[in-house]
Amino acid sequence: MKVFKFGGASVKDASAIRNVSKIMSLFPDEEILVVLSAIGKTTNKLEKIHQAYQSMDKLTFLKTIAELEKFHIDLLNELFKTHSNPIYNKIEVVFDHLKAKFNLPYSQNFSLEYDQLVSLGEVLSSYILSAYLSENDFSAMWIDALELIQTDNNFQEANVDWKKTEIAISKKILPKIKENKLLITQGFIGATADGKSTTLGREGSDYSAAIFAYCCNAESVTIWKDVPGMLNADPKYFENTKKLDKISYKEALELSYYGASVIHPKTIKPLQNKGIPLYVKSFLEPLNEGTTIHANKENDKLIASFIVKHNQVLFSFTPNDFSFIVEENLSTLFKGLSACSAKINLMQNSALSFSILLDELKINKEKILDYFKKEYTIKYNEGLELITIRHYDEQIISKMTKGKVILVEQKTRETARFVVKNKL
Ligand code: ASP
Ligand code: MG
Repeated sequence: MKVFKFGGASVKDASAIRNVSKIMSLFPDEEILVVLSAIGKTTNKLEKIHQAYQSMDKLTFLKTIAELEKFHIDLLNELFKTHSNPIYNKIEVVFDHLKAKFNLPYSQNFSLEYDQLVSLGEVLSSYILSAYLSENDFSAMWIDALELIQTDNNFQEANVDWKKTEIAISKKILPKIKENKLLITQGFIGATADGKSTTLGREGSDYSAAIFAYCCNAESVTIWKDVPGMLNADPKYFENTKKLDKISYKEALELSYYGASVIHPKTIKPLQNKGIPLYVKSFLEPLNEGTTIHANKENDKLIASFIVKHNQVLFSFTPNDFSFIVEENLSTLFKGLSACSAKINLMQNSALSFSILLDELKINKEKILDYFKKEYTIKYNEGLELITIRHYDEQIISKMTKGKVILVEQKTRETARFVVKNKL
């Protein structure tokens, strides 16, 4: 059995969905589980709808739902011959449910409410894809991920209960795929023991694909993307990017951890644990070799990779009482940063100062300043970039840091990292 993951861009409009069906027809005799993301930018729209619900802004709430509904109905009109297809009704039920939400009081549990709404994008997309494939002579069966991916109630970033998930998946998926060969399910979402929807973190559908593959002992996972594979740099910012043909799990994990956005960093571990290969391939050129991610480390060093994170802010904390930055201080700092939901991209300490680099757009700066102000003097520097180079040499470093002021520099044997700002 193979697991195929299709992201939002691969189903973004009618011709993209038709293209998915073309890809599926290249594998007529295979058992395939498709793990699907929400269509295009649906998840962002659902976030907006949730925001409007929280702030009781009925106008924005209804207007944004109407836009999203129109988008989905227009898509159905392009894909299906008649309005009598049951898919119209299925989609309407989801939108009615969404609209009715406004009449219920907001529970004040932001993350719980978020997950109940935002999880619906994948339900819509998977209904549409399975209806479309069924109408085009595939025997596609829709499968409810909420019955399979069992999680705790850490809403918005739920943790998988692996034992329960493994039991549910092997009981439900394995017999069905023997019967049916093509199953369609949702990425990104799961459910708590008491049946509340959860999400696994933004862009989490890749991770879902890995969870399913792990629990089914799949032969491989393929992530279908709008790029030819994993590249050594982001083509949005770099010319002459090169495809990484074969890399190890470790290399892929490092690259995605440092910010290469092609695969979600959590995807690798379950696959590595069972030795399941991961293929990253282009949905536009499905016959071309993409990137193979596997246990073999032989080719990791062949090509240097570059990752640039923009909009970084460097915070430096100095204890007011002039105490050294040692274990006790560090433990207070980490506890506080975790309470402020700050995710650290890089850190460094000296005798009296502890510096961390954070994503400017993902933090609440005031909250951090307020939290630490009694015990620490805090300085921060905004508008920075974090450059990571894997398998660097000095020539590459000087090219990458040309015209920049280096604020922090860290090197290991394989990785060089620089926090920089542009020279004025
Ligand atoms: N639809 C979700 C998101 O946009 C999950 C995913 O795409 O992987 O974050
Ligand atoms: Mg997405």
